Amino acid sequence: MSTWGWIYLLLLGIHVGMCLAWKPSGTVLYRSHVGEGCGIAMLERRGLLLLNLTPFGASFLCLLDGHLKAGEVRRLHQAVLGHTRMLRAACATLFTQLFLLVPLVFLLKIPAPLPWLVLAGLANLVLVWVSLWRAHRRLHPDRKAERLTLLFFSVVSPVDAVHAGDALLRKALEGFHPLALARVLCTEQAYLACAQRQLRQARFPFSEEDWIRLSRFVREEGGDPEVLTGPPQSRGGTRTFCPRCAQQYVLETGVCADCRGISLVKLISSPDGAGHAASRTADKGRDL
Ligand SMILES: [Zn+2]
Repeated sequence: MSTWGWIYLLLLGIHVGMCLAWKPSGTVLYRSHVGEGCGIAMLERRGLLLLNLTPFGASFLCLLDGHLKAGEVRRLHQAVLGHTRMLRAACATLFTQLFLLVPLVFLLKIPAPLPWLVLAGLANLVLVWVSLWRAHRRLHPDRKAERLTLLFFSVVSPVDAVHAGDALLRKALEGFHPLALARVLCTEQAYLACAQRQLRQARFPFSEEDWIRLSRFVREEGGDPEVLTGPPQSRGGTRTFCPRCAQQYVLETGVCADCRGISLVKLISSPDGAGHAASRTADKGRDL
């Protein structure tokens, strides 16, 4: 392999390496990708996370003690999208040049003049630097040190330049609670699933502070925490469920295999009594 080939492989390795992160259990990740929508996921056990490989989406860590303000997420998200149009286009073009066009030219031996390829890449890099500086200055006029740091890494590393657009979105939204992000950025279905998961975890075992905080947010957004934490419909033959993780069991009684010390609760199949029964069942589970 030629020297250029090795340099390219090194660049590719750095790119993949920068998208990997070793995280402890309980880490919550927001992830979106063009054409796939978005989701919030929590690591059940520590492991390696693959963050966004391409600039056609975003992924960043969320904070369970972060701000629960959907209006603020909406405002910041719209501001970032509005100020980073040029930057995101330049990042996507740079990614295409570096990781699609260049390999194609070399692997298929397409007769393309190298100076022109390099020149096009450099021109795009300059566009990323300029639009990064301008977008960051509009979004965070008082964070000059952060702006200089982002620019520095984009200058010394083309891989950082590819993800400059993601970085601005991450910096704007990473301080928020996953539920606030799901409310604004994800589908209604994904938000409700996230709300159910968060409320159940706050209730079993009971954490008064988390429950009050989360249930207030859900009510403000038009939901009912009691209904969301109620028993799900029985999935054919199941009799009980875990009120924390909603896993269903055929057992009459017992404790959840995944959630230490959480007693199983009877499933209620009648949709008419679901809301009222949900409250009673949840209270019973909390006292155990
Ligand atoms: Zn469970």
